[in-house]
Amino acid sequence: MTLNALARRARPRACAQVLVAFEADIETLAECVGPDRHLRTICRCGEMVEFDATAWLDRRLGELAMVNFTDRLRCPCGGRQGRFEVWPGPAGCSGLKTRFAASLYD
Ligand SMILES: [Zn+2]
Repeated sequence: MTLNALARRARPRACAQVLVAFEADIETLAECVGPDRHLRTICRCGEMVEFDATAWLDRRLGELAMVNFTDRLRCPCGGRQGRFEVWPGPAGCSGLKTRFAASLYD
């Protein structure tokens, strides 16, 4: 394996083109959103929604790793913990409901 290949492998996954969905943990919030990708949250009850993190980005939380956000979620089932996945494609095209980071503060 060449050094170049090693350097490519060491980059956070979200910096590369997103071809398949993956669970976001060490990636920063800023790395997980963009014109070619969007965040989804999945609750233990099975509900999957698109997630609009604009309010968190506005609060300059973009450099935090996604693991810091997993206990900030609220699901209609009462669950307050979920996982984030990064999916290919722009936000708003999946047909899923969208939940907003702004509505998580009450
Ligand atoms: Zn739930």
